[in-house]
Amino acid sequence: MHFSVTILGSGSALPTKRRNPTSQYVECNGRHILIDCGEGTQLQIRKFGVKLQRIDYILISHLHGDHYFGLIGLLSSMHLLGRIKPISVYGPKGLKEIIEIQLNYAKSTLGFELHFFVLDAKSNGCFFEDNILSIYHFPLCHTVPTIGYLIKEKKRNRNIKKELAVSDGVKIEYMNTLKKGRDVIDENGNVISFKKYTNPPIEPRSYAFCSDTNYYEDIIPFITNSSTLYHEATFTEEFVDRAKSTFHSTAIQAAMIAKKAKVNRLLMGHLSARYNTGDLHVLEAKTIFENCEVVEDGVTYSV
Ligand SMILES: [Zn+2]
Repeated sequence: MHFSVTILGSGSALPTKRRNPTSQYVECNGRHILIDCGEGTQLQIRKFGVKLQRIDYILISHLHGDHYFGLIGLLSSMHLLGRIKPISVYGPKGLKEIIEIQLNYAKSTLGFELHFFVLDAKSNGCFFEDNILSIYHFPLCHTVPTIGYLIKEKKRNRNIKKELAVSDGVKIEYMNTLKKGRDVIDENGNVISFKKYTNPPIEPRSYAFCSDTNYYEDIIPFITNSSTLYHEATFTEEFVDRAKSTFHSTAIQAAMIAKKAKVNRLLMGHLSARYNTGDLHVLEAKTIFENCEVVEDGVTYSV
């Protein structure tokens, strides 16, 4: 089953040739989610072959421009391309008003329904759930109300051992029960064991998104054991004081959160425009947490 994140922008406030402002496209078992939408996101979407109209959910972390200045353009293009399918936008208070004022002054009406959901940036909880995944929000520590997100797969059914089931003549109508981890007793009183005919499903995977934030241990309970953690690492350790004063993090701080939260893998991004590469970030972070890398625009990472 598919669960991946494609980086559309890995830079911070000032765009560079190499790094666009923040945006990520998450694909999870047929669900298509955009997280943040910095300026130029729709061009990145085209450049990297993401299918724009597939996106059904947009999650915005906070109202600094490098995380949402691309939203009105993206929505306008969806309209111009004939979208009629509704879209849901989740984010902090104020986003709805900002988008509506732009549409109102342009006398624009979108050809699709735009559903806004305001998330309280000071609280946490599950705000979306279907049969495939759940999405949670939690507070980050930044200069304006900022929301972190966790996208988590639902536990799946067990997998049938097809060859064995067919050769033993297990009836099709028993399969659903076996997949759910329950034995079946057939008409002759024989027990058909789910353990014999199924393999356990893979453990549900999860993706945590934390940008922008100061070093903030309060997020750890919300992201513990995540398969993949994206944590901002705007600065290297040389600028630890600047990280603190601007409510951003260093690579070492991102690594410390990853270690304390016992995640499998750390992805770092939101790099300051002063860095040409993420090499020093990785070097520093690896002193604390080995399985880490700095993300690059246009690269897809499996969760
Ligand atoms: Zn910010």
